[in-house]
Formats: sequence, structure tokens, C-alpha cells
Amino acid sequence: MSNFPGWLRCVLCSGTVSLDSDEYLCGCGGSYEVVNELGSCPTSEWMRAEERAGDGGVWKYQELVLRSLPRDKIVSHGEGNTPLFEHPRLTKECGLARLFWKHEGYNPTGSFKDRGMTVAVSWALYRGAKALACASTGNTAASMASYAALAGVPAIVFLPEGEIALGKLAQALEYGARVVLVRGADGGSGTFDDAMELVQRAAKAFGLALMNSVNPFRLEGQKTIVWELLVQCAQRRALPDWIVVPGGNLGNTSAFGKALRELPDFWLGVKTPRLAVIQAEDSNPFYQGFLEGFKAPRRVENPQTVATAIRIGAPKNWDKAVAAIRFTNGVVEEVTDLEIMLAKSRLGKEGIGAEPASAATLAGIWKLRKRGVIKSGESVAAILTGHVLKDPAAIVEYHTGSRRGASSQPPITIAPYMDEVARVVEAVLKSQ
Ligand SMILES: *Cc1c(COP(=O)(O)O)cnc(C)c1O
Ligand SMILES: [Zn+2]
Repeated sequence: MSNFPGWLRCVLCSGTVSLDSDEYLCGCGGSYEVVNELGSCPTSEWMRAEERAGDGGVWKYQELVLRSLPRDKIVSHGEGNTPLFEHPRLTKECGLARLFWKHEGYNPTGSFKDRGMTVAVSWALYRGAKALACASTGNTAASMASYAALAGVPAIVFLPEGEIALGKLAQALEYGARVVLVRGADGGSGTFDDAMELVQRAAKAFGLALMNSVNPFRLEGQKTIVWELLVQCAQRRALPDWIVVPGGNLGNTSAFGKALRELPDFWLGVKTPRLAVIQAEDSNPFYQGFLEGFKAPRRVENPQTVATAIRIGAPKNWDKAVAAIRFTNGVVEEVTDLEIMLAKSRLGKEGIGAEPASAATLAGIWKLRKRGVIKSGESVAAILTGHVLKDPAAIVEYHTGSRRGASSQPPITIAPYMDEVARVVEAVLKSQ
């Protein structure tokens, strides 16, 4: 199986191994990325992909994602082809020329993880994997469990105990994965970083196929977010100056950088959009690194945030993500939990809806506009990474909890009489 076209290349020392290597880390400590033997994407392949729209958003780009996989080995749920929204009131409020929302919550399990998972799972099973494993803040687990079930292989997911959004935990259970909750070493609530450490060791010890974004095939699938986005923007006659995305383990950041690097020649006349990666204030190692010019990987012990999908202290895709920021002249910003929840509720009022981590994009846009980094009149594309129903508890807490947000609207309980109804209706009509 070693004469597949392409190879895995270390992002630090450029050493290469065969595409079917089980190692995702080079001896030098760097991580491997997939290199297509075509190099960057030839225009002809790109054109061919665009003509294959019926194959879904990921696999229409198969030659540029994973050429070596026979087409009948694809494990797919119809990922990608997610909608691109514009909400003129919001665009105007932000002082932007165009503001696009690419909603990855419309993927089969409700997050962008499906785009990477279809590739990584297909490849692992083609190569004979007997069981799949991952650590997760929730969405990777939900996605992997679903694809494992689809293919009929066992799945084990390692989740930080007490820190998983309800929708995500429910999905992993429903799709039949073995769900393992990892406690903190001090007996308190668990962290993704501990779960990640454990699953990497378990994968090695027991020969489980590791489906986290350290698996470079995940990132190949996630590149298609950017390719689809650019095509959709071009159809609307405005290419983005910025692409804004939340950052946790930094898999998407890395994949986006690679997608932009690999754009075919005919896109070269187009200015590369700048990446803006948004982190939560108390889970902000990449932001800290950005401030000091990425001298060395940073780590946050005991990371906290309401946006559990980005509650990660030791991101695994550090070097690739740094390369993505450098290649795109990108920036990293941090936002508070309150800013995230205000942004989330603002998105909700447009009828969009997204989970907390996704709303970090709008919070980040507000902040970068205020600081003058994103300029008035520029065009921005923001990635909504996950579905609104992933984390219902965060929403109910925001609207009814003890620390209600400024835009919260708790439900009103009434007795079953018309005069009580009248009071409510009159108040609603008056507020218009
Ligand atoms: C996984 C995830 C993120 C973080 O993405 P990374 O690639 O780990 O940086 C953000 N939002 C949602 C909804 C996610 O599921
Ligand atoms: Zn190396």
C-alpha cells in the first residue's frame, strides 16, 4: 500500500513518510500534513470539481482532498454544500460592505467536523481500521460516532466529564459510541487536554484509529469549507477581505491556511483573504502566542469558557495554525464569555442561531472593527461552526439564569385567563 500518490510531510523539518503511515507526528516533534503529488491545485482539477456538484461539498473535490481513496470506499452522509447567508441589518450595524455567514451547522451532525470526518473515517477503514477513537469537546465525538455507525465499526469517545453540551453528548449516545467521561486529575471536572492525552496513548497501545484533527486527513476535508465559501462569494460578486473563525484545537485554522495556499492559479489574481481567529479569553493560548510573535507554543492550564467547543488549553495544531496566520497575514483576537453570549443572542435575533463557539465570530468582528483592524467598508466572511441546538442549556441559562444577558428575554408564565393574555400581547405590540 505504499505507492499511493502523495505523501505526509512534516511541517517543521519537511521530512516525508508514505501516505499510509500510521504516525501523525514526525520524530522531530512536528506534525505531518498531507501533500498531494499534484502540488497546488491545477485549474483543470478545480473546474472538474465544480462540475461535480452532485457529489456533495467535500467529495466533488476528491482529487484535491484524497486522490488515493477508491470512490466506492467513501463513507459519506452528504457533508458540505452548506448555505451562505447575508443579513443586511447586521452587515450595516458592523459597518461592512458585505458580511457573509457560512453556516456549517447545516452539516449532517450539525458541525463542520463532518467534513473532516468523512475523509478521515473513509481512509482509516479503507486501510483496515477495526475501531475508531477520539477525544472531544463534543462535536468531534458526535460526528465520529455517526460515521462509525454508518460504516458499522465500533467507536470510543473520550469526553471531559461535566463539560459537554447536552446536544453533543446526546448525539454520541444515540449513534451508539462507547462514551467515556474523563474526570479531572484532582477529581473535579475534566478537560479536553487530559482526554486528548489519554486517547493518543490509547490509540497507540490498542491500535485504534485516531480521528482528532492531529489526523491530517481531517484537515483535508475541512479545506473544502474555504473553497466552497470562495465560490459562493464569487457568485455574489464580492470576495472577502477577511475570513473569521473560532479557534480551539486550531484544526480549522490550519485547514483554512492550507486551502488558501493550494488555490489554483486562476485565483492567484485574487488577494488572499486574511484569517482572523477568535479565542475565548480564558482559553486563549493562541492569542497569547500571537501577541509575542509565536515565539513558542503556549498552554493555558484549566481553560474556561461558555463556548465549550473551544475550551482547549493546549491546541494540537499549533505549528500549522501559525503557518496559516503568517501565510494570510492573519490576526488572533480574544473575546469574553459575555461578549460571546451577546453576539449569540444577536445572531439569534436574525433567525440564524448557532452554538456559543460559533458566535465568537461575531464577538470577534465587533472587537476587530472597534480596534480598527477590520476596516469600515471591508468584506468579511464568518464561519458559524455549529448548530444552535448543540447547546440548549447555554441558551436557557442566558435567558433565565441568575446572570442574564442584556438582551435576554425570559419566558412569562400566566394563569389560563384572557386578561393575562391581553397584558402580554399589548406589551409585545407596544414594543414594536
Ligand atoms: C471543533 C469546533 C470548534 C473549534 O475548531 P478547531 O478546529 O478545534 O479550532 C469551534 N466551533 C465548533 C462548533 C466546533 O465544533
Ligand atoms: Zn519533522
